[in-house]
Formats: sequence, C-alpha cells, structure tokens
Amino acid sequence: MNPEEIRAAFDRIKRRNLFAGFVPLVFPFFAFAIYQKDLFKQPEILFVSILPALAAAVWVHLVNWRCPACRAWLGRFFTVSECPSCKVKLTLKLNT
Ligand SMILES: [Zn+2]
Repeated sequence: MNPEEIRAAFDRIKRRNLFAGFVPLVFPFFAFAIYQKDLFKQPEILFVSILPALAAAVWVHLVNWRCPACRAWLGRFFTVSECPSCKVKLTLKLNT
C-alpha cells in the first residue's frame, strides 16, 4: 500500500465509525417516538432499542478501528495520527 492508499483507507474507516455512531440511534429514536414516556416503564424495549448502538460500538472498536496497512488495533483514541504498531502515517499533517 502506498501512503495515498493508506490515507484513503483510513478515511473510509473513519467514515464507517461515524456511520456506526449515528445510524443505530434511529432505533431508540423510533422506540421513543412510538412508546414515548411509557418507554421508561418498559426497560426491556429500551434495552432492545439500544442494542444496535451497543453492537455498533463494539464493532467499531474491535473490527473497524484497525490500521489499514497491518490490521493492528489503533487504540482507544480516535485522534490517532499514526499506527501504534507499524508507525505508518494515517493522516496528513495539517498546516495549522
Ligand atoms: Zn499498522
């Protein structure tokens, strides 16, 4: 993989993280829209509606959040700029 491919792959990984962070929120949103205040009296429905969000969070951390070059886990922080394992640069340095 050349540096451009690695950055493009890392961009896709970050986009999937974003997607996985927001899309599952529609489930608790609809659960609340349907049941409204009764939702909090029915913890099993509340729990089921947040399961997709929990599953997505686990998927992001365990499956998606990996180095595009060596597949090493990138750690707990989403501000990583290089792979902790193979040291490949994942983002361009910004001129700030
Ligand atoms: Zn790596």
